[in-house]
Amino acid sequence: MNKIEHIGIAVKDINESNEVFKKLFGKKHYKTEEVESEGVKTSFFKIGKNKVELLEATSQDSPIAKFIEKKGEGIHHIAFDVDDIEKEIKRLQKEGFNLIHNKPKKGSDNKLIAFLHPKSTNGVLIELCQDRPNKD
Ligand code: ZN
Repeated sequence: MNKIEHIGIAVKDINESNEVFKKLFGKKHYKTEEVESEGVKTSFFKIGKNKVELLEATSQDSPIAKFIEKKGEGIHHIAFDVDDIEKEIKRLQKEGFNLIHNKPKKGSDNKLIAFLHPKSTNGVLIELCQDRPNKD
């Protein structure tokens, strides 16, 4: 695993939160994106070499809706950059980690992603992400 790619924050209203984080960081988000398969709307801020992702649920059964219902708004996941996500998934499975996605899927920000189950990582939801070489 390489650096932390971004930190994901679950929010109730992404438009309101975009304003809050704009004030906090002193700059606007650089993109918004909807990931239909995950039932989320996202926006990204760049702070130096790091990124912050805001996530709002677009449906009741979205993982973000469930998270906010259970825990309220706040830090939802930490994403780590990896060079080869398939290899990393296999390595982690061998190490005994429980993955939510056993195969990489398309995430926002032109990434391939996979989540680890927080039960096997001390309650921290971890996302692996790899840059997608070709946009399709
Ligand atoms: Zn993320």
